Amino acid sequence: MYDVAVVGAGLIGSACAKYLSAKGLRVALLGRSEAQGALGACYDEGRIYRIADPDKVWADLADLSIKEYEAIKDEAGESFYQENGFLAIGDPALEYIRQVEETMAQFGTEGKDYFVYSGKEALEEHFPFLRLPFDEHSWKGIWQPKKAGHLSPRALAKIQAVLAKRNGTDVISRNLEQAEPQDDHWILHLEGSQQVEAQKVVLAAGWMTKWLVPDKSLDITTQMSQAVLFEVTPEAATSLASMPVLILRGPKDPEEFWYILPPIKYPDGRWYLKMGYDGNMLNQRLESKEEALNWMKAKQARPELVSVAQQMAARYFPGQRRPYIDYLDKGVAVASGGNGWAAKSSDHIGWLASEMLSNSSEWATDPVSKALFPKELFRASFKASERSRL
Ligand SMILES: Cc1cc2nc3c(=O)[nH]c(=O)nc-3n(C[C@H](O)[C@H](O)[C@H](O)COP(=O)(O)OP(=O)(O)OC[C@H]3O[C@@H](n4cnc5c(N)ncnc54)[C@H](O)[C@@H]3O)c2cc1C
Repeated sequence: MYDVAVVGAGLIGSACAKYLSAKGLRVALLGRSEAQGALGACYDEGRIYRIADPDKVWADLADLSIKEYEAIKDEAGESFYQENGFLAIGDPALEYIRQVEETMAQFGTEGKDYFVYSGKEALEEHFPFLRLPFDEHSWKGIWQPKKAGHLSPRALAKIQAVLAKRNGTDVISRNLEQAEPQDDHWILHLEGSQQVEAQKVVLAAGWMTKWLVPDKSLDITTQMSQAVLFEVTPEAATSLASMPVLILRGPKDPEEFWYILPPIKYPDGRWYLKMGYDGNMLNQRLESKEEALNWMKAKQARPELVSVAQQMAARYFPGQRRPYIDYLDKGVAVASGGNGWAAKSSDHIGWLASEMLSNSSEWATDPVSKALFPKELFRASFKASERSRL
């Protein structure tokens, strides 16, 4: 019998399993590997990491995770991140720009830890690869040169699972099909008629999480997320090697943004510059599990074009746009709701979940967590019509 079964060997699940087993618990990490057809948001090479987030809670989660990167790299003997810096650009009137600047002011000193550029000319002079459109609009940029850049989510998930295994976690590469409650534990039915028993279960299955709890409608919206990979020559990759990762908020819709990562070498040996878009114009909601699965599979099956490849995974947004780290029921918890922003913060989200599952107080008791993360921040919420049923 396991103390905890972690469902989902993606970024949050593997981090959670690593920390749970480090505390001496018997842990099973469940879920297909990428080669077996895992469907997650982490099977890619490029994710932005940064502290400069408009939301202080996300900035704290990122900060505490980024502080662990070097230790994770050293323990694994393998790197997964590249410190290229981060640049946020937008109209100075945007809330986003004001909030990012405010966050950075809480984390450091202007002129040392972050730099502010006003106007198109100042930005283009400092970042020669940049050409800003919309001459009629003014621009402001906030540059975080350190503790920011890009990471490989694929490598990080793999490394965290390896470290979990090293700590004693049993990694079982099969998906959960059904969870059956017993008086004081759970029987988990996995693919291939295998089953495991555990006292507690934590659902960390990313965008699939809400469909693993059918009787309680978790407030999570699942949406398409699409990015384009532009192939560049190795020479162009070298000349753009110092380019920071970049988020640009357009002047028209404050909810919409574009992000660009410097060229990254992908497993096919080619260099790609990744450009993604977040907004409703291209990314429709995926309402049912079947619709989401079909969309993901159809897109994955598309043959890659020679120099421009589309890359996609579903994103999911929990009700309050912060992750859910909470018990749903006796012995069943959730650690999910990355919002499209949790790759960089997954280590600390996994750690908080491990504290919740292992402490008798059911939440982290260390002074930092107590000061920064009251449990209420990460409470799971449910669709309005379901609340009365709980
Ligand atoms: C296109 C795109 C761009 C993004 N860009 C960024 C970025 O720049 N910076 C950033 O910080 N974040 C970014 N994110 C978000 C980040 O990748 C996610 O927040 C993160 O991967 C979430 O981690 P997770 O563990 O919740 O889910 P995932 O990493 O998706 O892992 C979930 C795992 O659960 C498994 N699973 C599903 N169903 C089952 C089942 N029944 N049984 C067992 N296992 C199951 C899946 O196969 C998968 O392995 C981006 C996401 C997308 C889609």
